[in-house]
Amino acid sequence: MSEVFNVADIFGEDVFNDTVMQERLPKKVYRDLKKMIEEGKELDLATADVIAHEMKEWAIEKGATHYTHWFQPLTGVTAEKHDSFISAPMENGKVLMSFSGKELIKGEPDASSFPSGGLRATFEARGYTAWDCTSPAFVRKDAAGATLCIPTAFCSYTGEALDQKTPLLRSMEAINEQALRLLRLFGNTTSKKVTPSVGPEQEYFLVDAEKFEQRKDLIYTGRTLFGAMPPKGQELDDHYFGTIRQRIAGFMKDVNKELWKVGVTAKTQHNEVAPAQHELAPIYAPCNIAVDHNHLIMQTLKRVACQHGMKCLLHEKPFAGVNGSGKHNNWSITTDDGKNLLDPGKTPHENVQFLLVLTCILKAVDTHADLLRESASDPGNDHRLGANEAPPAIISIFLGEQLEDVIEQLITTGEATHSLKGGKLETGVSTLPELSKDATDRNRTSPFAFTGNKFEFRMVGSRDSIAGPNVVLNTIVAEAFAEACDILENAEDFDKAVHDLIKQYATEHQRIIFNGNGYSDAWVEEAERRGLPNIKSMVDAIPSLTTDKAVKLFEKFHVFTKAELESRAEIKYENYAKAINIEAKTMIDMASKQIIPAIIKYTKELADTVNAVKAAGADASVQAELLNEISGLLAETKKALSHLIEVTEEAGAMEEGRDQAVFYHDVVFTSMDALRAPVDKLEMIVDKEAWPMPSYGDLMFEV
Ligand code: ADP
Ligand code: MG
Repeated sequence: MSEVFNVADIFGEDVFNDTVMQERLPKKVYRDLKKMIEEGKELDLATADVIAHEMKEWAIEKGATHYTHWFQPLTGVTAEKHDSFISAPMENGKVLMSFSGKELIKGEPDASSFPSGGLRATFEARGYTAWDCTSPAFVRKDAAGATLCIPTAFCSYTGEALDQKTPLLRSMEAINEQALRLLRLFGNTTSKKVTPSVGPEQEYFLVDAEKFEQRKDLIYTGRTLFGAMPPKGQELDDHYFGTIRQRIAGFMKDVNKELWKVGVTAKTQHNEVAPAQHELAPIYAPCNIAVDHNHLIMQTLKRVACQHGMKCLLHEKPFAGVNGSGKHNNWSITTDDGKNLLDPGKTPHENVQFLLVLTCILKAVDTHADLLRESASDPGNDHRLGANEAPPAIISIFLGEQLEDVIEQLITTGEATHSLKGGKLETGVSTLPELSKDATDRNRTSPFAFTGNKFEFRMVGSRDSIAGPNVVLNTIVAEAFAEACDILENAEDFDKAVHDLIKQYATEHQRIIFNGNGYSDAWVEEAERRGLPNIKSMVDAIPSLTTDKAVKLFEKFHVFTKAELESRAEIKYENYAKAINIEAKTMIDMASKQIIPAIIKYTKELADTVNAVKAAGADASVQAELLNEISGLLAETKKALSHLIEVTEEAGAMEEGRDQAVFYHDVVFTSMDALRAPVDKLEMIVDKEAWPMPSYGDLMFEV
């Protein structure tokens, strides 16, 4: 048996958490720091010096040699610049270890290598990282040794956000402020802070490292660009929740251990729908910590997979025709004294505050469906959304029977008088306890589903940061709260006003509610009748960032300026164009250097066989027929390849921006499909021994 350990002993052992701070910091310093964390009070440099010193001592005891400001630029991954703790050598030739308050609070990485979308001319390469003290520092141990990681936000010299975290923190402030207004209206005078809580479920694939290394598409793009479906597909339902095989189990054990050490509450793990696909979910946490932890989860999955001779694929669609990967972003709003604003209680129809919150969310999602859709777009997710496995690209809300009924009552009679009960679930087995049935069934096809006391936004891509979706959620709900409060704070008769408002919002935004099958064609038509947007691709989604509606929303709550939104749109077009360009070039490379040569060799063998069989006086018609078929497909491949080369060159020569991205989407992407089609047909008929790379079957069933 492998090593065993006590989770409670190792949990958070590499985190500079509250216990460590309390133990190590002088009382006053600890109090000041808590004030900064809880109330956003600024820290003076002398206090910061003390914290930095203790943090350094603690990290060095853990073996750390370096520290880094850990940040989330707009490339989608995290970035860091490492500095060692050593200061200038002393006269005796020895060296001191130092880390100042200034170094803790502010860093200055060279910003010119990160995308800024024109916000920062390269001659003004300065960017600053600023300590996000609400997300604890931690020591990460990997092949590079141990490093003290300080979660930070990343801004330009002039204060524009260059990262995912700055707007996230701003959006958390916005929803805090507006939710507190709303709570006060309902007589709550005790809650001091409202925080969005997030629990993301992360899906991923594992493949054997040796096979991965034989596929340039996986190496360069994270997904297969060619590949025929294996005879054994995912129709094998027994895999779902199947016994996690030993190799995978060993991997998961190490992932959990690594995550627990850095304070990530890895909680559930199971196999997913597709073969070789798995899922990991932590316990929900405050939004910004959940985002940081999701990055740590993705990095840890990748690192530990390598240690186990595997590769972790985070791409949304590693295999065409096989279920892709996403993230379910579970979202709720909680007060510092533990009240969840999304908890309907047993009798939701009587819970006026809940009904107001709920109808505000209906309004927010209906009004800004385009922004939510955009927040879930990345090049990989274009393969998933609307493809009958992930939610459709149309945003709608699933409320479940009970709440839908309450809303229905409100709309028709203006009054909700009762709530449907859950009842008891008959298992038919007398030894099993009687389970009480949820008042709400599950709906797996909805992009935005109410699940008991939270909303689950299911469109997010597996590789994408969850920061973007939460920025949008926090801000649009803050706006709806603000608009409701503007009305209710001035109402003469509060009870009547709130009642009318709930009814008004429910009526005006009922079109966003859909409890049926989101995968059906009928829904696509119905959604169109309702006037709901159906935004099919990333390039079509990006413009929603810069509409007047979006600018007004984000500027009102100081989440993004117009310039920041424009820069983000620009970066997204660039990111899209780059991603498709790399895919196209990888396809060209594989087709020219691996696939076509392998087929030429194979056709020669076949031709030799035909001749030999004929010379022997036998019937070679089957061999000749196969040779003809393969030669035909080879010609098709060559033609499609030439076309792809041409259009990729044309795209590369275009000026960066929307037109280029649209060209990549409409022309290059389509030409990639045209090249893939004959190659996949060839893979089905060419001798497996002759095929130059591992097949889907090899990758998915032999982990
Ligand atoms: P599912 O049945 O959808 O797989 P899980 O029990 O695995 O649900 O939970 C999914 C995620 O939702 C977990 O990360 C969990 O911590 C999180 N979650 C649970 N309650 C809340 C809540 N009130 N707010 C935000 N996230 C929550
Ligand atoms: Mg879920």
